[in-house]
Amino acid sequence: MTFEKNQQELSERIQQLEAENRILKEHLIEAERRAQESEKLKSAFLANMSHEIRTPMNAILGFSDLLTDIEFSFDKSLMKEYLEIIKSNANHLLQLIDDIIDIAKIEAQQLEIVISECQVNQLLHELLVSFNDNIIRAPEKILDLKLTTPAGYQNLVIETDPYRLKQVLSNLISNAIKFTHEGYVEFGYRILKNEQIEFFVKDTGIGISEDDQKLIFEKFGQVQTQDFRSRRGTGVGLAICKSLSELLGGKLYLESKLHVGSTFYFALPLVLHKSSDDFDENFNQRPEIDWSDKTILIVEDEESNFRYLKYTLEITNAKLLRAHNGIQAIDMIRSDNQIDLCLMDIHLPVMNGYDATQVIREFSPDLPIIAQTAFSMPGEREKSLKAGCNGYISKPISRTDLIKLIDKFLDKNNDV
Ligand code: ADP
Repeated sequence: MTFEKNQQELSERIQQLEAENRILKEHLIEAERRAQESEKLKSAFLANMSHEIRTPMNAILGFSDLLTDIEFSFDKSLMKEYLEIIKSNANHLLQLIDDIIDIAKIEAQQLEIVISECQVNQLLHELLVSFNDNIIRAPEKILDLKLTTPAGYQNLVIETDPYRLKQVLSNLISNAIKFTHEGYVEFGYRILKNEQIEFFVKDTGIGISEDDQKLIFEKFGQVQTQDFRSRRGTGVGLAICKSLSELLGGKLYLESKLHVGSTFYFALPLVLHKSSDDFDENFNQRPEIDWSDKTILIVEDEESNFRYLKYTLEITNAKLLRAHNGIQAIDMIRSDNQIDLCLMDIHLPVMNGYDATQVIREFSPDLPIIAQTAFSMPGEREKSLKAGCNGYISKPISRTDLIKLIDKFLDKNNDV
């Protein structure tokens, strides 16, 4: 009896050991697979990194060499072109270094999050302006970049790390532009149940298959593509974004369809900063602005600045006209008496905004003219008022301030 009992215990123990052994073996195989995978990814990363560093370096050294070659005499525009190439490649390298440092900090759990107040719409506009500039400089892209924000949240201020939030969104927008050759890239946010703020970046680009959707959030993970235009990059951007979104208490996810496009979402808990509710409350509560019967002339030579103003004012339904310099503005106002207000840039080619305003005043004394300048230099305001402008706003222009200021003048006109 005792012998049989011992035997049974022994066989149970053997079975248990065998099961443990099997599990151990499976773990080992899995660990080996992961090690191989990680080894493969690291080798790919190193090969890739070498390429990513050498490409901009070649351009920097090559064009610097050309510029220092005394045999050549350059005209100014060619020199500017070469310097632009050097600058953009140096920026690319800097971005790479920042990414590597971020990855190292994340691995060492030393990346610090600094929570402060964050003006959401302002941050998104800064991104719009800077990425619009990039698109304009890349003529091979037939892309429209759009910003969509929900009505009634113009002054939303949340508590988060604005620098890191901007980094995540900037990475997503930059990817969306990189992997979209035509169509549009749209970004913005929506508020979910008053509990979460969900940022999105949507594109009509090459899309990502379901299998690859897991891979891309891994460090150094990239989709193998035949499309040479999409090949640059190290594959660390999304891994950084994912870690950052977790450190910010949020989540990063996506929806994508191959050859149709992708939408990346980045949801954060909605923590309102105290200034969010008392900040310009009256403005938020006023009825929707509708200037569909108004015509505004925007005098602006810089494409990105014009687009910013256009996007800002489009929501008001006003009819928008554009002049590129002072002379054109004078001609348009002289020949079109439907113009209700003029938004005048000061630093303009051909004729500056001050001189143009003085001429306009001679034949149109009542047209509201608002000066907009890039630098808020002391005396600039007085100078523009002296030239005949009715109002003044300095860049970077806040959407709310601009709409309020214009509204003040259009309202006045209604009273007359
Ligand atoms: P990188 O862009 O440097 O390769 P990322 O980590 O930012 O690295 O992206 C990883 C991969 O995810 C990219 O190489 C690309 O294959 C894929 N990817 C990212 N964003 C998009 C997008 N908007 N559309 C299509 N593919 C994308």
